[in-house]
Amino acid sequence: MNFEFTALLTAQAPEVTALVTHRGFNACWYAGADAASSAEGRRLIARHFGVGDDAVFMPRQTHSVRVAYAGEDLDGVDALVTSRRGAVLCINTADCLPLLLVDTVAGVIGAAHCGWRGTVAGIASRTVERMAAIGADPSRIVAAMGPCICPACFEVGPEVAALFPAEVLVEPSGGRPHVDLGAAVSLQLLASGLRHDSISLPMACSMHDSRFHSVRREGRDLPYRTLSAIILNQ
Ligand SMILES: [Zn+2]
Repeated sequence: MNFEFTALLTAQAPEVTALVTHRGFNACWYAGADAASSAEGRRLIARHFGVGDDAVFMPRQTHSVRVAYAGEDLDGVDALVTSRRGAVLCINTADCLPLLLVDTVAGVIGAAHCGWRGTVAGIASRTVERMAAIGADPSRIVAAMGPCICPACFEVGPEVAALFPAEVLVEPSGGRPHVDLGAAVSLQLLASGLRHDSISLPMACSMHDSRFHSVRREGRDLPYRTLSAIILNQ
């Protein structure tokens, strides 16, 4: 069985392999999908990257700001970092923003689930901090964002809008506020020391682009997720 995906970071960081899967693939087991089929998804990822099943690290995400090293307890964790070659870091999303990070000089990678809650709480900055703790230099980190809900689609209530800096809000005349999640994560990365030209904004809108899963388009009970994965090439 094969699966479709889009490669990320190919040009910016050939020292890593990174991808986001298309609809038709699922490896997420905690959103209601059948256990056997999501386990098969994880096996496909392991085979794709040429590693053992135990080298695929996939946290059970809970919109927290907890960052873990690959190999630590991954329950209730929303970002992963590692310097281990051969470890695949995985993040599941369906409208939230999957963030993939690499400092190729230090050989340190990171992956984070940036929903609005995690973004407001600083998940992107926390992930950069944990990467720096194992040798990464923020000024060398290259960042790519997978598909997430775009500012035109991401309408929020005023109470959520109030949590974001004004420069990432889009206010259509007479309408409810919209949030630019990519811009919000980008601001955080810049504040953490990343260079402007090292940050790639979201590659697609998960709601507009039916290649990707979207909870807002497909419904709250959606058991499937788009997988974003990154590995340091061996
Ligand atoms: Zn959109």
